[in-house]
Amino acid sequence: MLKGKTALVTGSTSGIGLGIAKALAQQGANIVLNGFGDAEGPKAEIAALGVEVEYHGADMSKPSDIEDMMKFSASKFGRVDVLVNNAGIQHVAKVEDFPVERWDAVIAINLTSAFHTTRLAVPDMRKTNWGRIINIASAHGLVASAQKSAYVAAKHGIVGLTKSVALETATTGVTCNAICPGWVLTPLVQKQIDDRSSREGISIEQAQKDLLGEKQPSLQFTTVEQLGGLAVFLCSPTADQVRGVAWQVDGGWTAQ
Ligand code: NAD
Repeated sequence: MLKGKTALVTGSTSGIGLGIAKALAQQGANIVLNGFGDAEGPKAEIAALGVEVEYHGADMSKPSDIEDMMKFSASKFGRVDVLVNNAGIQHVAKVEDFPVERWDAVIAINLTSAFHTTRLAVPDMRKTNWGRIINIASAHGLVASAQKSAYVAAKHGIVGLTKSVALETATTGVTCNAICPGWVLTPLVQKQIDDRSSREGISIEQAQKDLLGEKQPSLQFTTVEQLGGLAVFLCSPTADQVRGVAWQVDGGWTAQ
C-alpha cells in the first residue's frame, strides 16, 4: 500500500516508534529512522523487510538538528510522505519539585519537535496533494495524572496541534491525526515499573500489575503491533476523511 512512499518516524530506535516503522515498512514504505542509542540493529530489522532505510541522529530538542534531518530525508528519498511524530521522554515529579530543565526538555521533545517537523514537511505534502501526519500523543493527551505536569501539558498540546493542522489541510490530501496509547511495555514504561518496584519494595511483576490496575481497565498492555496497525490504517484510503482525531488505544483508560 505504501510502496514508493517515504515515512520518517522520530524516536524510532526503540519501542513504539520502531514498531510503527516496521508496520509501515511491511506496507512497502522506505523509512527514515531517528533516535538515540543503537541504530544499526533497528536499521537491519527494517532492511530485512525489503525496503530502503536511512538513519538520522537528530536531537529532537534542537530545531537546527530537525531542519537538518528534514533536508537529509528529502535528499535521500525526495520528500517525506508519512511523518510520525513519536519521540518522547517522561519525567515524574510534583510540580513544585519539577526541575526546570526537565520541564523544558519534555516540552521541546514531546511537543515543539512536532511543530518543527510538521512545518517543514507540509509544503512538500501539499505539492503532491498527499500526506499523513501521525502524532503519537497518549491517554495523557486527554486526561491527566499527578506528577506528570510537563508530559500531560505536552500531550494535551500535541492533541491541539493535531486538530489545528488537520483544519489547515482539510481541503487537501494531507491528513493529521493523533494516536493516544495507554500503557505500552517499552523502556519508557519499564523505568516507571522499576522505580515503583524499588520505591514500594514490591516485585517487578506486582509493580506491573498495580500500574495496569490503576489506569487500564483491560489489565493488559497495548502492544506496538496494535499501534503499528492503526498507523497503517490511518495511511490507507479508507482513512481519507479521518481528520483531527485523537484515537485512544488504551484498554478503556479514558472511558472511565
Ligand atoms: P522509548 O523510550 O522506548 O522510545 C523513545 C524514543 O525516542 C527512542 O527511540 C529514543 O531514542 C527517542 N528519543 C528520546 N529523546 C530523544 C531526542 N531528544 N531526540 C531524538 N530521539 C529521542 O519510549 P516509547 O514508550 O516507545 O515512547 C514513544 C512515544 O510514545 C512517546 O512520545 C511517548 O510519550 C508515547 N507514549 C508511550 C506510552 C507507553 O506506555 N510506552 C504510552 C503513551 C504514549
